[in-house]
Amino acid sequence: MLSLTKQNILLANGIGIAQLGFGTYKITEYEVAKQAIDSAIEHGYRAFDTAQLYGNEKILGRVFQENPLKRDELFITTKIANDKQGYDTTLTAFEQSLTDLQTDYVDLFLMHWPLKTTFFQTWKAIERIYEEKRARAIGVCNFHQTHFELLSTQANIKPMVNQIEIHPYLIQQSLTDYLRHEDIAIQAWSPLARSSVNEDPRLIKLAKKYQRSPAQIVLRWHIQQGYIVIPKSATPARIIENSLIDDFQLTADDMNLINSLDEGFRTGPDPDVVFEKDGF
Ligand code: NAP
Repeated sequence: MLSLTKQNILLANGIGIAQLGFGTYKITEYEVAKQAIDSAIEHGYRAFDTAQLYGNEKILGRVFQENPLKRDELFITTKIANDKQGYDTTLTAFEQSLTDLQTDYVDLFLMHWPLKTTFFQTWKAIERIYEEKRARAIGVCNFHQTHFELLSTQANIKPMVNQIEIHPYLIQQSLTDYLRHEDIAIQAWSPLARSSVNEDPRLIKLAKKYQRSPAQIVLRWHIQQGYIVIPKSATPARIIENSLIDDFQLTADDMNLINSLDEGFRTGPDPDVVFEKDGF
């Protein structure tokens, strides 16, 4: 059995991040987290994505602590919650994340959403955390090009990552072109469109051709575009399935076929709306 992609993506500051990581949204019970993360680690996953918003940092901290892997063998990402944005509040909330995750640094610290009134101050605090070497890399989520352009008027450090919703129904072509041009790594959230790819007859047909599952086809599509991808599953069989995507290649025609499914469909909120409303 071939294992999970060993491919690392190098961020603009030279830090490497596994191209296939693991999402933890909605994993909020210790037993579920324990089973999922132990199973993920056993099958080669090393990069884990959490957020203050998910309410699971404490649980994850405990699970990581109980696992025999050393801290520097893991890549831990967390994000500042919207209601903690601002300079001092970001610094305080970051300390709490470190305490909860039982670590003295994170590998990647992200701003969860762009918010109109606080994002400059929040980014200043994130820059300070990076300069103090308590985050090995820093970035944002859910930023459109306009948000980067605005942030750049006051930022000293350019975000190294933009974690955004991407799946076959939302390919975000112009934004991803911009991010590539700016050397900002693209991390895809809801890469499986929250599992709906599995019921799509067009993807089921393609999956049959490659003798794979639709989820594996879609994850492979992400990987071939150079995206960092963080599928979430609490189901050990799916955790393994999602890791087995390294031993086949989609043809250019099939990549295009998946691109053609784009319909601008979001499973989550539009960042422009969140920005203007200063929250959800
Ligand atoms: P997702 O990974 O696209 O989908 C997760 C869903 O798909 C779960 O219901 C899971 O079910 C199911 N699933 C996973 N693998 C499967 C497979 N092989 N076959 C069939 N179903 C499968 O969606 P997501 O959790 O929204 O996104 C992934 C991660 O991105 C999150 O966990 C979080 O870490 C991050 N995220 C970030 C933001 C942001 O604003 N920055 C927003 C949303 C998400 P089971 O668990 O029951 O197996």
